[in-house]
Amino acid sequence: MTEATPRTTLGKVRAHQTQNEGLLFEKSSPGKRAYKLPPLDVPEVNPGALLGESHREDTGALPELSEIEIIRHFTRLSTWNYAIDLGMYPLGSCTMKYNPRVNEFVSRIEGLAEAHPYQPESLSQGSLAIVELLQKCLIEITGMDAITLQPAAGAHGEFTGILLVRAYHESKGNPRRKVLVPDSAHGTNPATAAVCGYQVQNIKSNALGMVDVDELAKVVDEDTAALMLTNPSTIGVFESEIHKIADILHAKGALLYMDGANMNALCGRARPGDFGVDVMHLNLHKTFSTPHGGGGPGSGPVACKAILEPFLPTPVLVRKGDALGWNFDRPQTVGRVRAYYGNYGMFIRALAYILANGPDGLRQTTEDAVLNANYIRKNLEDLYELPYTTASMHEVVFSDKRQAAKGIRTGDIAKRLIDYGFHPYTVSFPLIVSGALMIEPTESESREELDLFIDAMRAIAKEVEENPDLVKHAPHSTRVSRLDEVTAARKPVLRWKPQ
Ligand SMILES: *Cc1c(COP(=O)(O)O)cnc(C)c1O
Repeated sequence: MTEATPRTTLGKVRAHQTQNEGLLFEKSSPGKRAYKLPPLDVPEVNPGALLGESHREDTGALPELSEIEIIRHFTRLSTWNYAIDLGMYPLGSCTMKYNPRVNEFVSRIEGLAEAHPYQPESLSQGSLAIVELLQKCLIEITGMDAITLQPAAGAHGEFTGILLVRAYHESKGNPRRKVLVPDSAHGTNPATAAVCGYQVQNIKSNALGMVDVDELAKVVDEDTAALMLTNPSTIGVFESEIHKIADILHAKGALLYMDGANMNALCGRARPGDFGVDVMHLNLHKTFSTPHGGGGPGSGPVACKAILEPFLPTPVLVRKGDALGWNFDRPQTVGRVRAYYGNYGMFIRALAYILANGPDGLRQTTEDAVLNANYIRKNLEDLYELPYTTASMHEVVFSDKRQAAKGIRTGDIAKRLIDYGFHPYTVSFPLIVSGALMIEPTESESREELDLFIDAMRAIAKEVEENPDLVKHAPHSTRVSRLDEVTAARKPVLRWKPQ
């Protein structure tokens, strides 16, 4: 080629052959092995004598394969998946950003990867220094006074945070019964409040998609333990009256919990501790680039103001003279919420990300994430309905109102997006928007990738007008066509059984 082909004219996807794949059980043939052990050079021990009743003679049917068969099986399966390493993953509220390889490199350094939680403190000073430094960075980023890294996910962080709130009110001899949750909240918020024993009271959003401050003032009373607020909210809108919200709560002795899963919109620009938040969680697997797919492990640190510090889970990292160590002697603690000290490998990755970016880099990241969301908004708002015109932060929420007139709903558009080579956006959430399309590009995407996404969404809007059936029955390019989601949810078949 003499002339460079502009990337966008290539389009995003082509049909690509992938092989069909049986189950390992189906491929198995007796006697195949993927290992070879050296001859035994110690006396053989009868496992029954060692293990007693826990010893099983019959291990059931296990597949028998060679090494290359196993490698090919899993490698082929991995090519069926969509991943952030393949392309844009605009799943709103999830912050599916790229996981920089430097994080992985650092987490695999032998002294860190092989450290054991039962190692004595004197031999763990380096590992503990990482915990200390990450805690300091996150306290600085959030503007809070203290932190625990123990919780293993965002929802687990919420649970821990609300336990702190409960312990705080109980310590004042005033256990309260209510937790307020706006109607725009992530589903985990009301679930957390209920699991912690609170009555959940819903707060309506106003026309801007924010908490209705007058309505809030009416419902906060001496029985209110806290308000759980996501900021920016799940429609990607910043609560501009957050100070007033905090004042209303504090005047009645209630606390402000912030769901910090959306910190990708604030990191390096605004600190929850400075706008009245008492306790919050972070999702390291969202804002701080630790892996999100593959089922985790996640990490949901909880940062709080000094008034909640006595209740933090044990152990708490402290200075013991020149050394670092764990303090288990904390009479007011809510206790442990996680084995050992949390998902330590995630701490290393998050710290590597924070240090690699530095303060200016983190701020730039936030600005790019917000810019990318607004670039998409600007380029799609003529075709897709924007239910809230309030300025968008890191994500933009459209509704399928115009497409619904043609019988096409948000889920159909999302399935058609798969044919264009993208992971779907978040469908039908938040609930306050009927037929929501929730799109969060994150800062990871280049202008070129964003343009491809916009082209795809525009092409689909046109298809809805001209050939709605094409969209209705999408996806057409995948190994499996549209599934019966109701049956899959109600009658799942989760087990393979030999014939
Ligand atoms: C992702 C998310 C959560 C829950 O985090 P998990 O790690 O999935 O438990 C809570 N709130 C909001 C707003 C989120 O986006």
